[in-house]
Amino acid sequence: MSLLQVKDKTFAVSIPEAKLQEEVRRVAAEINRDLAGEEPLFLPVLNGAFMFAADLLREVTLPCEVSFIKLASYQGTQTTGTIREVIGLAKDITGRHVVIVEDIIDSGLTMAHMIETLEKHNPASIRVCALLVKPDALKVKVPIDYCCMEIPNDFIVGYGLDYDGFGRNTRDIYTLVEN
Ligand code: 5GP
Ligand code: MG
Repeated sequence: MSLLQVKDKTFAVSIPEAKLQEEVRRVAAEINRDLAGEEPLFLPVLNGAFMFAADLLREVTLPCEVSFIKLASYQGTQTTGTIREVIGLAKDITGRHVVIVEDIIDSGLTMAHMIETLEKHNPASIRVCALLVKPDALKVKVPIDYCCMEIPNDFIVGYGLDYDGFGRNTRDIYTLVEN
């Protein structure tokens, strides 16, 4: 088993790169199909979605725009429950088909807040594209249009996701090993 040490915690590979790439391609094909004829605006959520967005968008063949937004709700391995908007919307989304690109949906609070904020700007549509979803952790109902993988309610790092700022720069995804 391939282990990763991030600060004081040990993680083990749970989703290898090849599996991630396969699922990212599948989701991109769904987006290409569903939004054919449109010029969507992708809104990847920093920091966690940067690697997923880079891989996803390389597979998107539609004419599209990309604009990053930044929100944070996590400190360490525990959700704080409070959502901080760090970088707001730089683009006018009125009348646009918007695709939010998120690393992981846990309680769903971040995504629910984001959808509510974006809806105020009257986009033509809002779609949610998540790399990972923890179905057992969802506290609010969130419409998830695209999802690469569902995972158990464990803490993960890698492929853009961090533990205390570290561990984002890996090709595979790792799960916390309880010890
Ligand atoms: P939610 O608001 O859905 O509870 O939390 C969403 C955000 O929390 C995600 O965008 C992500 O930044 C962070 N998060 C949730 N679960 C994990 C996890 O297992 N690992 C890491 N690194 N971040 C997580
Ligand atoms: Mg995130």
